[in-house]
Amino acid sequence: MTTSVPRDPKVMKKMADLLRAGATMLAETCPICGLPLFRLRSGEIVCPIHGRVYIVRDESEAARVEVQGVLEELEKVVARSIGETLSREGLTAESLERLKDLLDVLERVERILALVRETRSSTNGESRRQTSTGRERRE
Ligand SMILES: [Zn+2]
Repeated sequence: MTTSVPRDPKVMKKMADLLRAGATMLAETCPICGLPLFRLRSGEIVCPIHGRVYIVRDESEAARVEVQGVLEELEKVVARSIGETLSREGLTAESLERLKDLLDVLERVERILALVRETRSSTNGESRRQTSTGRERRE
């Protein structure tokens, strides 16, 4: 599914009407039809087709950015620990155990990060999310 502005004259007219009424076209798109959303002078956010839309995207976007930041930090720490464990102890039965744990964490972090990044780069999270099940767990 791609987001495109249909050439439906009724929709085009509705969008023109919104702009004429002082509404602002947003970068956000309607989660249902993918059309650009408009902010009315009253502050309401509307889709030209579906009318009023409630956007939680700003909040969840902020939350995702925060999660991403924390995970990227964790990713660095884990990667550093792996390097340190290796250079300090080499590959021993004991260090292998620890490395396995660290790699487990790293794998999880990267999987979640991939999800967070996918969600952020797509307004169509539903169909994208399915691709994440393609990866198998080896246990
Ligand atoms: Zn819509």
